[in-house]
Amino acid sequence: MSSNYDVIVCGGGPSGATAALKAAQAGLRVALIEKQRLPRHKPCGGGMPLRVGQWLPGGIPEGVVETSVRYLYHTWKFQQGHLGAVCRPGISGASGGSSLDLWMVQRPQFDNALVRQAAAAGVTVRDGLVLRSLQVEDQGVTVQASTLGTSRQTTWTGRSRHLIGADGANGVVAKAVNLRSRRRLAFALETELPHDWDSRHPHLRPDIAHLDYGAVSRGYGWIFPKGDSLNIGAGVFYPPRGQQGNFRRLRQELEQVIEGYCSQFQLNPQGASYPLYAHPLPLWQGREPRQTSKGQVLLVGDAAGLVNPFFGDGILHGIKSGVIAAEAIACGQAHQYSRRLHQEVALNFDAARLLAGCFYRFPHWCFTHIVQRPDATEVAARLLSGDLTFSQVSGRLAAYVGRTIVRGA
Ligand SMILES: Cc1cc2nc3c(=O)[nH]c(=O)nc-3n(C[C@H](O)[C@H](O)[C@H](O)COP(=O)(O)OP(=O)(O)OC[C@H]3O[C@@H](n4cnc5c(N)ncnc54)[C@H](O)[C@@H]3O)c2cc1C
Repeated sequence: MSSNYDVIVCGGGPSGATAALKAAQAGLRVALIEKQRLPRHKPCGGGMPLRVGQWLPGGIPEGVVETSVRYLYHTWKFQQGHLGAVCRPGISGASGGSSLDLWMVQRPQFDNALVRQAAAAGVTVRDGLVLRSLQVEDQGVTVQASTLGTSRQTTWTGRSRHLIGADGANGVVAKAVNLRSRRRLAFALETELPHDWDSRHPHLRPDIAHLDYGAVSRGYGWIFPKGDSLNIGAGVFYPPRGQQGNFRRLRQELEQVIEGYCSQFQLNPQGASYPLYAHPLPLWQGREPRQTSKGQVLLVGDAAGLVNPFFGDGILHGIKSGVIAAEAIACGQAHQYSRRLHQEVALNFDAARLLAGCFYRFPHWCFTHIVQRPDATEVAARLLSGDLTFSQVSGRLAAYVGRTIVRGA
């Protein structure tokens, strides 16, 4: 079967679904192909700043937000707990919530709802279809795809003026067009554990997320509260260069963090086995082309390496890049996409990378002198939401670190 479109999007995660919807809203003929059958699992904590809603062209789909987090409980090796509010008292809204709240979703439902919005706007959605190869010409792209894992394979050929590579950390589009050859990968592991909120532990609450900085080196562990489950995970967000590919060793370390949280809160008293999902995170490495020279192929989200090098979050940035890519195509400026994307994220992420280098090398010092400060949680929430940029805080932070070291000397 062969079809013609203005835009083909490869990948049905938040970046691809957003790009497809935005392009369809601009009147373009769009197809989205997704390797897996939807809804599909994506290893993820499912936490994001509420501000993500401002970037979603179809608004936040109904019913996907399971909890709103208003406090972070910071620990060092599960001890020395410090509870910080994402927003100072007095600034919260009538419901007690604020624009700095963090939303928690289940990725299969969230991603599927975004794809449904795109389909409702006229996007042709084909799930269970794997992009196998692509051919780039001056005027556009031809892609070959086929169904996954069935004995009677269906093949599909699509032609379009533009291809948006939204195929994530392990995608094929970037490689096929020789983009993003130098990648820096973080690595994270998570599980979703059923939970009833009768728990008597004072810090296990639907409005508290937990972060631990000492149990994993150069990363952190987390518990994110959901409707009737807890997402427990850990990631190495600043892997030493030599150990980037050593996922087996990293996985063992991260499994221990999840076990540590379980025993700390007695979350799995029967010792039941639970599924663990691991996945790489392509961290921001700096400015580099994220499109082919004539704009036939554009990369968004994880495929473009847009994971924040400090926090390791990628949903908001993937969604932003999907919007920017679709807008660039719609106004005939696809060849300017990298420049526009960099205007939005580069300064901020470059500064985040520098700060990550300090934070994850000296985590105990940072936990004691920065994380436990009364205003630190709110600053973190503002950085996550984009209310404040890393470039804005880096100068102040450097001065504070200098003063603290001199005082302690
Ligand atoms: C353990 C873990 C926890 C995380 N927690 C958070 C968090 O709490 N908050 C946050 O903001 N970020 C988090 N992240 C990062 C976040 O998950 C990613 O940044 C985000 O999923 C990127 O979205 P995307 O749409 O770019 O890619 P993806 O969500 O990875 O989607 C890519 C899609 O492309 C499809 N695909 C791949 N190859 C092909 C092909 N050949 N043909 C067709 N389709 C293809 C895949 O099946 C997939 O559905 C976490 C990551 C990990 C690993």
